[in-house]
Amino acid sequence: MPANSHSMQSCHIQSYNQPAMGADVLITRMSRLLSMCLTALFVVTFFGPSAAHAQDILQRQARLPWWERAEEKKIGHYWIKTDVEPELANSLARHLNLMYEQYAQRLASLPSREPEKLNVMIFAEHLEYQFVLRTKFGVDGTGSGGMFFANPSGTALAFWIENLPRRRIEHVLQHEGFHQFAFSRFGAELPPWANEGLAEFFGEAVLVNRKLVIGQTTPRVIKRIRDAIELNEHIPLRRMLTMDGQLWGAQVRRGDAALQYHQAWSMVQFLVYGDGGRYVQAFENYLKMINAGYTSEQSFIRAFGSPDIEAFEKQWKEFVLQMQPSAFVTAMERMEFLAAGALHLREQKIVPETLEELKAKLRAVGFTYTLGAHGVETVLNADDDSLFVIFEDDLSDQQPVFAVGAIDLRRATFRERKLAEQHPFPCGIQTQHLQPHEISVRWVRDEDEPDAFTFRIEVK
Ligand SMILES: [Zn+2]
Repeated sequence: MPANSHSMQSCHIQSYNQPAMGADVLITRMSRLLSMCLTALFVVTFFGPSAAHAQDILQRQARLPWWERAEEKKIGHYWIKTDVEPELANSLARHLNLMYEQYAQRLASLPSREPEKLNVMIFAEHLEYQFVLRTKFGVDGTGSGGMFFANPSGTALAFWIENLPRRRIEHVLQHEGFHQFAFSRFGAELPPWANEGLAEFFGEAVLVNRKLVIGQTTPRVIKRIRDAIELNEHIPLRRMLTMDGQLWGAQVRRGDAALQYHQAWSMVQFLVYGDGGRYVQAFENYLKMINAGYTSEQSFIRAFGSPDIEAFEKQWKEFVLQMQPSAFVTAMERMEFLAAGALHLREQKIVPETLEELKAKLRAVGFTYTLGAHGVETVLNADDDSLFVIFEDDLSDQQPVFAVGAIDLRRATFRERKLAEQHPFPCGIQTQHLQPHEISVRWVRDEDEPDAFTFRIEVK
């Protein structure tokens, strides 16, 4: 895909001997490829090639190759090799280790099967990510924001940073980090529905003050699964359970990839939360039996004590039909849309002062923002009123809202305040009355270009 196109996220487990198709050809040619998963590329047009680009290339040519330049260090459970700033590397390492505790807590009873050396490669630039993966490991990282791969040349979780919003990076890290963890417990034998369903379960979670806000979702995802159930377009559960990596990959390419991942996620959600947690133990037993070498169907029937998978499907459908979206993760997604929009306007020297003004200006320029999920793009369009509001949910005690205004510079340094007079920040955006936590956009000014910014969505 073109480097300046909007986002795409693809994610699939592949087994060797898989039929060669498109971008997977190279992967298929690799000998004894065990499993891999690609996630979350997120490139937005306004991060396109700049005038400094040629200069960058010259500088790049003059320095040592990434492999020699990047430092390696063990932090907690992970061996981290990276060329990013130590502060960022440490913060990502902390995030990874907190996620490790979450994976381990939920799969505590499973013994390790593969020797656990958890390698992580964090690249400052996505071109170097692609280059190192291709030349050192024979892996094609085109179009991916990160992946976990395991092949005879090595095993690692790899992802890149560049200008991606932190939330995108965290999604990749949490999703692919689960695949890496699962590989140490199951080898390549965890059925794709459970591997992807759990990876999405963790990928969508938000880590706040060392605690994971988990199990939440947006109206968009719920609607997609519900529509599929109502139109009878969902994948029958029996088929989901028995699909191997090869079938899963083929179906992702042929069918509705987003639905397949959403459905896997909803099945995990059902097993964890359905009927007040009634199935958690059986789900754990299912995973234990897979870990011990039984097939998916055998494990399911034994763990749930019944061969009647159709009855089980009925309960899953009922669960999905009454699922409620959550305000917090929906606000996270919409905040990302609003921040990307504010950044886009700032590039045209527009800094709105109210939410209404932000909305009007974004509409005037026809702003859209693309979220990627598994090869299917979801375009968020400024014409959609719902993107500017938050709804109440079980946790709300008051109607949550987005608030837009000038950035508070009272705590900024003198230098920063002077700089902001000449080169103003994009508009500030935050929530009010959002539970369990308020969120806001933090703008980070580029050190070399005072009019260039990136953003983080911060949880209070
Ligand atoms: Zn995945």
